[in-house]
Amino acid sequence: MTPDAHVSSQPPAQDLHRLVACEYCDALYERTPLAPGERATCLRCGGVLYRESSRAYQRLLPLVVTALILFLVSNTYPIVEMDLKGVRTETTLWGAVQALHSDHMTLVAMLVFGTTILFPLAEMLMMCYLLVPMARHRMPPGFDRIVRGIRQTRPWGMIEVFMIGVLVTVVKLSTMAQVIPGVALWSFGALVVVLAAMLSFDPRDLWHYLEPAGADEAPPREDTA
Ligand SMILES: [Zn+2]
Repeated sequence: MTPDAHVSSQPPAQDLHRLVACEYCDALYERTPLAPGERATCLRCGGVLYRESSRAYQRLLPLVVTALILFLVSNTYPIVEMDLKGVRTETTLWGAVQALHSDHMTLVAMLVFGTTILFPLAEMLMMCYLLVPMARHRMPPGFDRIVRGIRQTRPWGMIEVFMIGVLVTVVKLSTMAQVIPGVALWSFGALVVVLAAMLSFDPRDLWHYLEPAGADEAPPREDTA
């Protein structure tokens, strides 16, 4: 494709902002405003194009901050009591990961670390990185790359994977450890609920909130793009 052909076939930025492509069959539609709770579906294949997400967006930053606090609490307080060479010690999730590793279960330790610590934390930090400047109507640098990063880490940050990670820890450690029904466990329970609410938001919708005035104004990033 020559550069000229590319430029001439590109519609104005305002039009691009209104367009939405079906994720499943690539059909192209023009975005129309939806009422709360409504969703737009593809006429050709019936796939969901987008949802009305303004209320979910307003709740997103408080949700992410809550999740981060719960995450810190969950990982600060001891979650299991272990019997190591006759000495009973209480340890955090991170301590449990280290115990799994030293007990020659390195693969399990890596799985637990990734699903319960690394990926949820990465997702929360990326969301914070985007949402804090956006709340002040500023564009965070590298916005497109971070949104793509969230989309890519999401299969690993899914709630089911997180639950499996916690479950594997409990089962694998059951011979040498007991779960403490304390602060960390309740905090983990709450974290699962908050993460589920947070993950129900499609990060691609963030594009729509980047321009506070909505689709009628030209996006301010055009000059730098
Ligand atoms: Zn479709």
